[in-house]
Amino acid sequence: MTVHTVLPTSTAGSLPKPSWLAEPEKLWSPWKLQDDALREGKQDALRLSLQEQQHAGIDIVSDGEQTRQHFVTTFIEHLDGVDFNKRETVRIRDRYDASVPTVVSAVSRQKPVFVEDAKFLRAQTKQPIKWALPGPMTMIDTLYDAHYKSREKLAWEFATILNQEARELEAAGVDIIQFDEPAFNVFFDEVNDWGVATLERAIEGLKCETAVHICYGYGIKANTDWKQTLGSEWRQYEESFPKLQASNIDIVSLECHNSHVPIDLIELIRGKKVMVGAIDVANHAVETPEEVANTLRKALKFVDGDKLYPCTNCGMAPLPRHVARGKLQALSAGAAIVRGELGA
Ligand SMILES: [Zn+2]
Repeated sequence: MTVHTVLPTSTAGSLPKPSWLAEPEKLWSPWKLQDDALREGKQDALRLSLQEQQHAGIDIVSDGEQTRQHFVTTFIEHLDGVDFNKRETVRIRDRYDASVPTVVSAVSRQKPVFVEDAKFLRAQTKQPIKWALPGPMTMIDTLYDAHYKSREKLAWEFATILNQEARELEAAGVDIIQFDEPAFNVFFDEVNDWGVATLERAIEGLKCETAVHICYGYGIKANTDWKQTLGSEWRQYEESFPKLQASNIDIVSLECHNSHVPIDLIELIRGKKVMVGAIDVANHAVETPEEVANTLRKALKFVDGDKLYPCTNCGMAPLPRHVARGKLQALSAGAAIVRGELGA
């Protein structure tokens, strides 16, 4: 992957969808179109999302997750072995109860999930592109398992499936494949026992760059309520970073701006590239470029300049479009300030 600038900007993943495609400011928002019209609508939305990133000057672009309803569920919907009509209520990320589908038999991937979408994005731009997939631990955490009856066993199965998908995304021209693992901020023992190991299984044999995104979630109520309980210092990263530092993952994407994460924890992954979250996705106030620059300057004490990738804290799907657009522009402008200071 060739990035033509220092401090290349990107987003954690999702961006708002146009209101003609799905109801805005909502997770799991149902599609407003069907069949061929839906297929075409998703592609049009992907093009718009790409264009908004380009207009804002984002360096590493994505599909804005326009073709998926949810960052975890949509991937699982395409697999065999999971019954979406058989639902059980489970506690997700130890935080909120949700009705989830059931694993009823061996899980497998009969055909690619996002590969056609990735090819479509690749055909639209020569810029580096990043593609997000759910991580194994976050996937098992949104299911009821009536078959394997072992979180670890199911995670290894998903890791194998994710590796199949990732290899095809790489062949489609994706430059960075990112695995979203918000569950890494919750289940520390499992992260260290098998969480990072399953992630490494998912990236096995890949030549493109790989990233893991670990955050405190979208700005939805269950997450903001949970954050209230975490105290004044959020030290969750301290649990997963040593293992990640020793892993084969190239990039770690994390939440920094407006969070209570002590920024010096980044020292624990020294040597890795770090996507520093400099945009808060949990409020509608658009950051000033100077605020973004400030967060990046703080991070620069613990990340080498050539390894710092300015980013958003998490996805922006639930935000109003104009807010997300403003935040993209702020990210670019803030990165430009610091780039200037570095003499780049
Ligand atoms: Zn996130």
